[in-house]
Amino acid sequence: MSGANQHDLQVLSKSAFVAALRCPKLVWKFFHAPEGLPKPDQVTQARFEGGHELGRLARALFADGIEVMPQCCAVDLVQEATQRLLQLRRPLFEAGFLYEGTFARVDILHPVGSDAWDVYEVKGCASLEESHIAELAFEARALAGAGVRLHRCWLVYLNDEYVRSGPIDVPRLFVKADCTQRVSMHAQRVEQWTDDAHSVIKRPACPEVVMGVQCDQPNVCPLRGKCWNCLPNYNVTELYRGKRKGFRLLQSGVERIYEIPENGSLTARQAIQRKTIRTGIPHVEPETIKAFLRQLAPPIAFVDFETFSTGVPRFDGLKPYQRVPFQFSLHTLSESGATPEHCEFLAEGTLDPRREFMEKLQDAIPEAGSIVAYNAVFELGVLTECAEALPQYENWVRNLKRRFIDLLQPFRSFAYYHHAQRGSASMKSVLPAITGRGYEDLAIRDGETASIEFLRVTFGQVTPEERQRVRSHLLRYCGLDTLGMIQIVEGLRKAIGEN
Ligand code: SF4
Repeated sequence: MSGANQHDLQVLSKSAFVAALRCPKLVWKFFHAPEGLPKPDQVTQARFEGGHELGRLARALFADGIEVMPQCCAVDLVQEATQRLLQLRRPLFEAGFLYEGTFARVDILHPVGSDAWDVYEVKGCASLEESHIAELAFEARALAGAGVRLHRCWLVYLNDEYVRSGPIDVPRLFVKADCTQRVSMHAQRVEQWTDDAHSVIKRPACPEVVMGVQCDQPNVCPLRGKCWNCLPNYNVTELYRGKRKGFRLLQSGVERIYEIPENGSLTARQAIQRKTIRTGIPHVEPETIKAFLRQLAPPIAFVDFETFSTGVPRFDGLKPYQRVPFQFSLHTLSESGATPEHCEFLAEGTLDPRREFMEKLQDAIPEAGSIVAYNAVFELGVLTECAEALPQYENWVRNLKRRFIDLLQPFRSFAYYHHAQRGSASMKSVLPAITGRGYEDLAIRDGETASIEFLRVTFGQVTPEERQRVRSHLLRYCGLDTLGMIQIVEGLRKAIGEN
């Protein structure tokens, strides 16, 4: 939803319609208090840009197309231009249609026969979702209302079986799905949804909405920070795998986990959460932790990978969104209590980094001993994909996999739980809870930002100084992940009295 123009007119654009489907409060704020909406963060912005790139690429499927008033958000101007260009009977990109207070800009409109049109909506994902059909139905309603004869409605999305070989083969990169029937089944519902959205927008006051699953689905709502900051620490939405239960408790007036009565139906792990909050003492199952630690055979290699993935495969042999490892950190402990040795790799240049990544990793990883990763399924998956692309590593990877131990295990099973984990077993929650030290001093604090920053300084136009600055942040971030794992193991030993 862009342009004050649309807000002033209270015209419901497609993005406003999607916001209304999620939450009446969100769409009301878009129209009445847009200044209070936070700007998209770096990760969201990168997703938008990735989507735009795919949208532009998909236009190559339609020869001789015309883009309708690029960069222009003025509804009346776009609509007039669209009406003029429709006469040419050529593919139109971003054509705009105004109908009964809704304004739909259509990714691609393609002429069929002498007077009909096919509509195409491009999505940067590899599967269809119900919300995509609702968006298409919103467009179809506006088109039909504006007098356009619709032939078929299509969704265009990424073909997850496409493997790049040479220049991008655009017709094979995308899949087209005929959704005409599903769209027509949505016709009545879309009518109702747009009416509901309009009546929300017309309200003088913001509707009261109770927080719920809509705040995190299909992604994090831009207003989540504001709506949720009224909740106290250790509130019921932090229950382990218990979001819906948490919302029910909130509605019944129970805000804090420690207030949940004994007869409240909690799972065993949620009950551990409540107990640790009430007592302030971590929950420890010594025998399970001992058994876990006994598996660790020196030299112990703590390893962490960073990867990027793009909708348009960047190198030959890649599928859409296939992971490409560009960095690893490895801390090796020759024996318990020894000073760890550190080794790291961060790809340079714009070529496919996988071969060098595997070479360096093979050199760095000890030939015996345990290999520890946090949520090891990620590292194992990356290694498997690399071995498929580079078969010379198949045997090595097969043997390596047997030595992997997942440090997530004692936390996911609640053999150890500290109330400061706040219902999460992720390393970003466990490390500060168990050691008191976290990622707050780092410029890069999560894998998604690491990936975006690597792509930006590797393939984008940046100064050498900026590239160097970001690369040093990447090294610090990945290095803390593996050093942090050693500290977590020490924390576990301490918790069972072994240190
Ligand atoms: S955070 Fe939740 S309640 Fe608040 S506007 Fe978003 S979806 Fe609605």
